[in-house]
Amino acid sequence: MRTLPSTILVVGGGITGSTMAVLLRRVGLDVELAEAAPDWNTGAGSGITLHGNALRVLREAGVWDEVRMAGHGFGTIGLTAVDGSLLHEERSLPAGGDDLPATFGIERPRLQSILAAAVRASGVRVRLGVRAQVTAQYGNSVEVAYNDSESRRYALVIAADGLHSTLRAAVGITDTPKTTGMAAWRAIVPRPPGLDRTNLTYGAPVHIAGYCPTGPDTIYAYLVESTKPRSELPPPASHAAHMRALAAPYGGHWPAIRAHLTDSSQVNYSRFSRLLVRNAWHRGRVVLAGDAAHSCPPTLAQGAAMGLEDAWVLSGLLADEPPATWDDALLTRYHDRRSRRAATVVEASVRIGQWLLDSSPHADIPNLMNRTMTMLRQMP
Ligand SMILES: Cc1cc2nc3c(=O)[nH]c(=O)nc-3n(C[C@H](O)[C@H](O)[C@H](O)COP(=O)(O)OP(=O)(O)OC[C@H]3O[C@@H](n4cnc5c(N)ncnc54)[C@H](O)[C@@H]3O)c2cc1C
Repeated sequence: MRTLPSTILVVGGGITGSTMAVLLRRVGLDVELAEAAPDWNTGAGSGITLHGNALRVLREAGVWDEVRMAGHGFGTIGLTAVDGSLLHEERSLPAGGDDLPATFGIERPRLQSILAAAVRASGVRVRLGVRAQVTAQYGNSVEVAYNDSESRRYALVIAADGLHSTLRAAVGITDTPKTTGMAAWRAIVPRPPGLDRTNLTYGAPVHIAGYCPTGPDTIYAYLVESTKPRSELPPPASHAAHMRALAAPYGGHWPAIRAHLTDSSQVNYSRFSRLLVRNAWHRGRVVLAGDAAHSCPPTLAQGAAMGLEDAWVLSGLLADEPPATWDDALLTRYHDRRSRRAATVVEASVRIGQWLLDSSPHADIPNLMNRTMTMLRQMP
C-alpha cells in the first residue's frame, strides 16, 4: 500500500508564504517552500507600513525582535494640509495589543531577508527559481509539477502565490483581481530630521501624499494619483522627475524628501487592485492564503497584515489535526475564520480609495480607519 504524504508545500515565498512556512515548522510539521524568484528578492521596491495586528503574527513567528531593530515604530498619525501644517493628530489604535507599536515602517527588502533567514533556520526545505503548478489531486494528496517537468506529491498545498495566483486558476477558482483606478509612486529616501511618524495629505493635487519612517536613517515616500493608460506614463528614466513634479506643491518635510528623488531606478510604480475570493478558498487539498485569496488597495496598509493573519490561523488549525483530516471540513473552518475579516478590510480599503477618486463630501477617513482598527484588535 502506498504511504500517504505528510509534507505541506507552500507555494510562494513572499510575506504570507514565508511566515506560513515558519509557523508550520514551529508546530512541528514537515514543510517545503517553492519560490519562483531565483534570488528570493520578492520584497524589492520601497517600504511597508505594518500595524499591530501584523506585528503580533511576526512575534508569533519568532522574528519580531529582529524586525523591531530593523524598522521604526510610532503611535500617532498626522493629517496635514498641502503646505505641511498639521490639521489633525490621530492616536493610532494599537491593533496588536499595547505591548506592540500601533504602526511600524520597515524597508521591504529588510523584512524579506529576515523572513527568508527564519524560513531557512526553521528547517523548511526551500526550492528557489522553480515555478510550481498543481497538476492533479488524489483524495489525500496533491500532485505538483515543477517548471513543467519533475513532479511530487504533498498532503496539502498552500497557494501563497500572490495576486495573480496561477494555482488559484488551476484549481478552478475563477475570481480575478480588478484595478481600482489608483496607483502609487514610491521611493526610499534619507530620513529628514524631525520626521518620526506618518503624515498624510489627502485630496489634491494628488489623492494621497504620505511617508513612513522605515528605520533610523530612511523613510519611504508615496504619492498616489489616478491610474494613467500605459501610453501616458512617463518613460522609466524620468520616473524620479515625475515624482519630484508631483511632490512640488507640498510643504513640511516634502522639500527635503523631494531633494533626494533623483534616481529613477529606485522609484517604484504600482497600480492598486482589489480581490476577494467570495466562496471557498480551497478546492480539495489546495488552499489559498494572502493576496491569492484577498487583496486590497493600501489605503489602510492592511494587505500584508491579512496574509500574516491567514498564516497564523491556518497553521494553528493544521497543528491541531493529523494529515488525514486536512480536508474540506478543516479548510472550511479556515475560510469561516478569515473571510469576514478579510472582506471588511478589502471593502473599507476600497471605499477610502473611491471617496478620494470621487472627491466625496461624505468621506470620513479617520472614522472608517478607527472602526476597522477596532475590529482588527480582536484576535483573528
Ligand atoms: C503600492 C502598494 C503598497 C502596499 N503597501 C502596503 C502596506 O504598507 N502595508 C501592507 O500591509 N500591505 C501593503 N501592500 C500589500 C502587500 O504588499 C501585499 O498584500 C503582500 O505583499 C502580499 O504578500 P503575499 O506573500 O500574499 O504575495 P506576494 O508578495 O505577491 O508573494 C507571492 C510570491 O509567490 C511567488 N510565486 C508566484 N507564483 C509562483 C509559482 N507558481 N511557483 C512558485 N512561486 C510563485 C512570487 O514570486 C512571490 O514571491 C501594498 C501593495 C501595493 C501594491
